[in-house]
Amino acid sequence: MNKALEEALQNCENEPIQAPESIQPHGVLLALDYKLNILRVSQNTQGFLGIHAEDMLQKPLRSFFRLPETLETRLKNYQHSTTSQQSNFYFQPNNLYELDCITNQKKYSCLVNFQEKYLLLELEQFTFEHLLPDGFTISKELIFSFHQAPQKLEEILSENLQRLQKLTGFGRLGIYKFDHQWNGQIIAEVKKENMPSYLGLHFPASDIPAQARALYTKNWLRLISDVNYTPAPIIGIPPLDHPLDLSFSTLRSVSPVHIQYLKNMEVKASCSISLIIDGQLWGMIVCHHDAPLYLSPQKRIICVHIGQMLSIQVSTYEKQQHKFLRERQESRFKMIGNRLIEADNLLSELKNSAHHLMEILHATGLWGTIGNQELLEGNVPASPAERQILHHFLKDYFQKHDKPFITDSLEKTLKISDEFTEKASGVLALPISRRNNNFLVWFKQEKITFVTWGGQPTKDIVMADGHKKLLPRASFAKWKTKVRGESTPWVLNDLKGLTALKNAILTNLLMRSEKIAERKEELEKEVAKKTESLKKIKNQLEDMVVSLKESNEELENFAYATSHDLQEPLRQISTFVQLMEKRMGGRLDAKEQSYLKFIVDGTENMQALIDDLLEYSRLTRQKYANEKIDLNQLVAKVLHLFQETIQNTQAQIRLDSLPVIAGKKVLVQQLFQNLLSNAFKYRKPDVPLRINIEAEDKTNHWQFVVTDNGIGILPEFHEAIFQLFKRLHTKHAYKGSGMGLALCQKIVQQHLGNIWVNSAPDVGSSFYFTIPKTFTKT
Ligand code: ADP
Repeated sequence: MNKALEEALQNCENEPIQAPESIQPHGVLLALDYKLNILRVSQNTQGFLGIHAEDMLQKPLRSFFRLPETLETRLKNYQHSTTSQQSNFYFQPNNLYELDCITNQKKYSCLVNFQEKYLLLELEQFTFEHLLPDGFTISKELIFSFHQAPQKLEEILSENLQRLQKLTGFGRLGIYKFDHQWNGQIIAEVKKENMPSYLGLHFPASDIPAQARALYTKNWLRLISDVNYTPAPIIGIPPLDHPLDLSFSTLRSVSPVHIQYLKNMEVKASCSISLIIDGQLWGMIVCHHDAPLYLSPQKRIICVHIGQMLSIQVSTYEKQQHKFLRERQESRFKMIGNRLIEADNLLSELKNSAHHLMEILHATGLWGTIGNQELLEGNVPASPAERQILHHFLKDYFQKHDKPFITDSLEKTLKISDEFTEKASGVLALPISRRNNNFLVWFKQEKITFVTWGGQPTKDIVMADGHKKLLPRASFAKWKTKVRGESTPWVLNDLKGLTALKNAILTNLLMRSEKIAERKEELEKEVAKKTESLKKIKNQLEDMVVSLKESNEELENFAYATSHDLQEPLRQISTFVQLMEKRMGGRLDAKEQSYLKFIVDGTENMQALIDDLLEYSRLTRQKYANEKIDLNQLVAKVLHLFQETIQNTQAQIRLDSLPVIAGKKVLVQQLFQNLLSNAFKYRKPDVPLRINIEAEDKTNHWQFVVTDNGIGILPEFHEAIFQLFKRLHTKHAYKGSGMGLALCQKIVQQHLGNIWVNSAPDVGSSFYFTIPKTFTKT
C-alpha cells in the first residue's frame, strides 16, 4: 500500500460517521432527557408534524404526543437499563410504538433508542402493515432451506435472498462476504434483469472502512431510502456539548463518500443487513435499488430478524462443514498414524503414506527429516541449499513457537527463488521433535490467480481541507489483477489430526530406541551367558584332558604291571614244560607229545601277547603301519586259538578271502581276537553260532566286518561300549573286564581307521572297522 493511500485511508477512518449531526429526512428524531423534555430535534419537523423544530425545543414530549401506556412504562425503565440491553432490544417488534400527534391528529411509528443521557425517539409515518405472518414464514423457510438435501452455501443463500427480495422489493440483493483481510466478495446474488451483476466480484477492504464495520457490528441494519436525500440537521439550545451519537439510530445520515459511492454505482436506494457470527462481522446482505425505496420499521424489524437467523444458520452450517472436514482429516491422519506407530522402518512407511498425507491437505509436495534421513516426495524444491535456508528458518521458528508454521505465501516471510516459489508458495511445517530436529513439511505449489475486482481497487485520492481524502471509485467496471506467489489456502480445521500424526511418529521413534536398547541388553545377556558356558566347557575340557591323561597313564601302568607280572609264571610254565619234555621225551606217545606242543605253543603265544601288550601299553598317537600282514594267515591263526571253543559251540564260521594290509601284526591279531572272542562270548545259548568275517575294498581303505547272530546290543549303547571298562553285563553273566572294545578302538585308531557297530538285540551284531591302504613307515 502506498503512503498516500495509507494516509487517505486513515483520514477516512477518522470520519465521525456515527455522529453526523443530521438524519435522513424520512423521519424525525427527538432527543429527550429523562423527564421527557425535548433537548434536540431534527429540523424537518415542520413538513412531518406541522410544528417548527425550534418550537419543540425545551418542551415536554407530552405537549405534542399522546403516549401509549406501554411506552410510558418503557421510558420509565430506560434510565435503569444498560446500553447493551438497549441495543439488543432496538430492532425488536416490541420496541415499535404508535404515537398520536396532538397537533395534527396523525399516527406515527416510533422506535426508541437510548444514548448516554438521551432518550432518542425516531418517528416515521405510520403505515398499517401486518407483516408478522410474512416474517414467520420467511424465517421458517430459511431454517428449512439449511436442512434440506445438501447444497452449496451459496445456493442456500441465493434462495433466501429471493425471499428477502419478495419482502422488500429491492432490485438487487447480494451476500457480501469478508475475507481475513476485510476484502469482500459477492458470493450470492439475486437481481432484476436490468441491474448489473456483481456476483463473484471482489471489493477492497477500503470500500467498507473499519469504523463503518464497527457500526455494522453494533447496528444490524442501515437503510438509505433515497441517495439524493437532503440531510435534516439536528438542532438544540446552544451551547451544545457534543454531537449526538447516532450509532443505534435508524435515521442516521450517512457519509457523503458513501453516497457518492452508491451514486457511482447508479444505485438510488440501499439497505445493508449485517451477518454477525460469534460477535464478528462475517458479511452483509447488501440490497440495492435503481429507484428510491423506503422500508417501514416493521419491514426493517423483519429484515434484521432474517439477518440474525441467517447468521445463526450460516454459523451452524460452517461449523458443521468444519466439523465434518475436521473429523475426516483427523481420522485419516489417525489411520496413517496407526500404521506409522507399528512400522519397522518409519521412513519407508512415511514414503508409502506420502500420497495420502499430501492428499489430506491438498498438498503437492512432502519434505521432512526423520532421524538423519530425508524424505522427499512429490513436487519439492530441488535445491538442497534453499531447502536448508527454509530448514534454518523453521528451526528458529520452532524454538519460539510450539505450533505448526503455516503460510499461503512463503515469499512474504522468506526471500526465495522463483523455482522455490513455484513449488512451495504454500508451506505447512509440523515440528515432530525439536530436540532431534525432526519435522514434516507439506508444500503447495504457486497458484497464479486472477482476482476480478468490482472496479479498480485503488480509489482516487484528493486533497481536501489540507488532508488527503479518498474519493469513491467512479467506475465499477470489472478490473482484473494477477496474484502471484500464493498457493490456495490451507484448509486445516484444527490441529488435532496433525497432533495425532506427530504423536504417532514420536511413539514410533521412542519405541524404536527402546527396542534397540532392549535388543542390546538381550545381546549383552546372551554374550555373557555364552561366555559363561564356554568357560564351563573349557574347564570341563581341561578336566577331561587331565583325567584322560591320568586314565591313559593308569591304563599303561596297569597294562605294564599286569603283563610284567604274568611273564614270571609264564616263564615257569614254559621252563617246566621244556624240562618235562626233556625227561619224558622218549616215553611219550604221539598224542601226549602233541599236547605238550600245544602247551609250549600256548605259552609262547601268550608270551608274545604279553610282550606286545607291554609294547601296546606304551602306544602313543603315532602313525603305526609298517608290517605287511596277510590277514588270511592272521585270522586262521586266531581261529586256531579258538579251536576248542569252535568245536564246543559248533560254531559256523564263514570267511571271505581277506587282503594283505599294512599294520602292526600283533595289534591286528589282537583286534580280530577281541572281536571273535566277544562273538563267542555273547552268543545266544540255544542258537547255533554263526560268524562271518568279510572284507570290502573301498578304494582308499579296506572295510572289515565281523558279524555274529548273538544277543545283540541296544542302540543306546552302540557308542558307549567302546569306552574303557564299559560293560553291559555283570561278571557273573559274562566274564570280562570291559577293556576289549576299547583296545580294539585304540588299535584301529593307531592304524588311522574307524570302528563302529551295527546291532539289534536278539538279532546279532556287526562290528565294522576300516584300515587305510596306504603303507606308511614309522
Ligand atoms: P567285555 O567283553 O570284557 O565286557 P568289551 O569291551 O569287549 O568288554 O565289550 C564291552 C561290552 O560290549 C560287553 O560287555 C558286551 O556287553 C558288549 N559286546 C561286545 N561285543 C559284543 C557282541 N559281539 N555281541 C553282544 N554284545 C557285545
